[in-house]
Amino acid sequence: MKTLDADVIVVGGGVAGLACGKCLHEGSVPFLILEASGRIGGRLKTDPVEGFLLDHGFQVLQTAYPEAQRTLNYRSLDLRPFAPGAVVRLRGRFYRVADPLRGPRFALDTLFAPVGTLGDKMRVLRLVRRLCRMNADDLFRQREYSALDFLRREGFSERIIEAFFKPFFGGVCLDPEIHASSRVLQYVFWILAHGDAALPSQGIDSIPAQLASQMPEGCIRTHMRVKKIDAGQLVLENGEKLTCRAVVVATEGPEAARILGIGKPSGSRGVCCLYYAASEPPIQDKLIVLNGEGTGPISNLSVVSNVAPAYAPPGQALVAVTVVTVPDDCQEDPETLESAVRNQLRDWYGQQTRRWRLLKTYRIRHGLPLQRPPTPDPTRVDPRVRRGIYVCGEYRSVPSIQWAMLSGRRAAEAYMKDSGMKQTTDDARH
Ligand SMILES: Cc1cc2nc3c(=O)[nH]c(=O)nc-3n(C[C@H](O)[C@H](O)[C@H](O)COP(=O)(O)OP(=O)(O)OC[C@H]3O[C@@H](n4cnc5c(N)ncnc54)[C@H](O)[C@@H]3O)c2cc1C
Repeated sequence: MKTLDADVIVVGGGVAGLACGKCLHEGSVPFLILEASGRIGGRLKTDPVEGFLLDHGFQVLQTAYPEAQRTLNYRSLDLRPFAPGAVVRLRGRFYRVADPLRGPRFALDTLFAPVGTLGDKMRVLRLVRRLCRMNADDLFRQREYSALDFLRREGFSERIIEAFFKPFFGGVCLDPEIHASSRVLQYVFWILAHGDAALPSQGIDSIPAQLASQMPEGCIRTHMRVKKIDAGQLVLENGEKLTCRAVVVATEGPEAARILGIGKPSGSRGVCCLYYAASEPPIQDKLIVLNGEGTGPISNLSVVSNVAPAYAPPGQALVAVTVVTVPDDCQEDPETLESAVRNQLRDWYGQQTRRWRLLKTYRIRHGLPLQRPPTPDPTRVDPRVRRGIYVCGEYRSVPSIQWAMLSGRRAAEAYMKDSGMKQTTDDARH
C-alpha cells in the first residue's frame, strides 16, 4: 500500500489555507499545503517596486477581527492605523467626517459637512450605539435586507446614501450599488466601532508570511496546482498524484466549485487599483478619501505612506486609487482608464498630480465574491462536504480576512473531531 503523503492536504495557500495549516500543526496533524502560484498569500500579496510596497489592491486589516486577534501577533506586524473617519469629496470640496466618539477632533467638521442631514448624523450615531450593544452572533440573527433597503428603512436620506454609504460600503464589498447584505454592512460598522483599520508596516503580505513562519519547513509547496480529486487521490496539473486521509479545499469560490463539482459559484466582483508615486502627499491626513460625487472612475483614494511610511521611499508618497466600476470605454484599455483617473485626480488635487508617476495598475478580476442576501450565518457554516473532504474560504460567509481565517481553523477542527482527536482549541465562534 502506498504511504500517505500527509494526513491532510490543504489546497490553496491563502489566509484560509494557512490558518487551517496552523491549526493542524498545533494539533500535531501531519499536513501539506499545495499552492498553485509561485507564492503564498492568495489575495494578500505585496510587490516591492522601486522602493515602494504595493499591495495587490488596497486593503486593510481590521484590528477588531476576533480571529485575527486570536491568530496573529499584532506587535510583530507593527500595525499602522488609519484615523477613524473619512474625507468625502462632494460638490467640488473635501469634508472630513467621523464618528464623534472615535474621532472627536473631527466632530465639528462632521456636524457641518453637507454629507447628509443633521438627522442622518444622529441616525448614524444611534445605529453605531445599537450595534455596540450587540455581539457578532446577534448581528447575524437580524432580519436581512440589501444594504440599500436597510438604510432606507432606517430613514437615511438619499443624500447620505449617495455621498457616503455608496462610496464607503460599495468600496468594502466592491459593489457600488450596495446590494450586499445589511448584516455585512452592520458587521463592518461594528468592527470599525471596536478597532482600527490598519496596515502592517511592511505590507499586507506580512499577514500570510507570519502564519507561514509558524509552520514546519517543507509543509508548504508552491507551483502545485490541483486539477482534481479522484478516488481518494489528489491529481496535480503536472500529473503527480498525492494521497492523504483528508483534503481541505481552501481556494477561491469558483475554483472550489470546479474542483469539488458542487454548487454554482456566486459570481465575482472585480476591482482595479492604481498606485502613484508623488513627491508630496496631496493630503496630510491618515484618512481614506471617498468619492461622494458619484462621477468619474475613482471610488476611493488613500495616501498609504501617510499611514505606513515604509510603503514609500524617504521623501516620496504612495497614493492608492481604487476603481470599483471600470467605465465601459476603459474595460479593455488600461491607458484610457489611467487617463480618466488622472483627469479626476487633477480636478481634485490640481496641477501637482501632473508630476505623479504611475507605478503599477492591478486589475483583479476575482476581488471578492458577489454578496447578495441571503448571507449564511458565518458562525454556522459546516466545513464538511463529504467524508474526508472539507472546505474553507471567505466566500462561504462574509468575505474578509476574519472569516477566511476562521473558516480555515474550523475546517482543521472539524477534521480533528471527525478523526477522534482531542480538539486543541476551543470552538470559539468568532
Ligand atoms: C482589492 C481587495 C481588497 C480587499 N480588502 C479587504 C479588506 O480591507 N479587509 C478584509 O478583511 N478583506 C479584504 N479583502 C478580502 C480578503 O483579501 C479575502 O477575503 C481573503 O484574502 C481571502 O482569503 P482566502 O484564503 O479565502 O482566498 P485566497 O486569498 O483567494 O486564496 C486562495 C488560494 O488558493 C490558490 N489556488 C486556487 N486554485 C488552486 C488550485 N487548483 N490548486 C492549488 N491552489 C489553488 C490561489 O492561488 C490562492 O493562493 C480584499 C480583497 C481584495 C482583492
